[in-house]
Amino acid sequence: MVIELKELLTTADKEQTFEAKLEQTSVMVSGVEYPIVKQSPFTLSMKNVSNRELCISADLEIVVSIPCDRCLEAVRRTLSLQIAEKLKLDGAGEIVAEEEETADYMIGSGLDVDKLIYGEILVNWPAKVLCKEDCRGICSKCGTNLNIRTCDCDQTELDPRMAVIQDIFNQFKEV
Ligand SMILES: [Zn+2]
Ligand SMILES: [Zn+2]
Repeated sequence: MVIELKELLTTADKEQTFEAKLEQTSVMVSGVEYPIVKQSPFTLSMKNVSNRELCISADLEIVVSIPCDRCLEAVRRTLSLQIAEKLKLDGAGEIVAEEEETADYMIGSGLDVDKLIYGEILVNWPAKVLCKEDCRGICSKCGTNLNIRTCDCDQTELDPRMAVIQDIFNQFKEV
């Protein structure tokens, strides 16, 4: 959804609110597509401050589905997004040129809501996602989800501490 801001950009101290909604139903992060499983319309507030600054603000929550880092089970994560953008205006109804690069959600005097929110999603993207703190992951040999059942595979080499001890043993053997 693109909101036309020409009037707001050219009218000093004008304030406007919009009921906005994301059109995208998934989000691309580092080349992987994650579904947005829940979102609701939100209020986008904007203010032209003395023809010098455009303030854009919004608060919203979305729920995304991300696989657990260890067992790959889908985990629902709520992202709380707070938009608080300030763009300098040149007094003649235009955003100053040097800000056009950072504000990639502006297309001329139109504001692309999805792009604006997308930038904030990336900033808030969780670095690590686990279905639970002590997720046991999946067996690297047979693929069993070890949270659900155990398997008979030899797991010793999966433990990095064991690998170090084994290296030491092997060194002794070589001498
Ligand atoms: Zn897990
Ligand atoms: Zn196994």
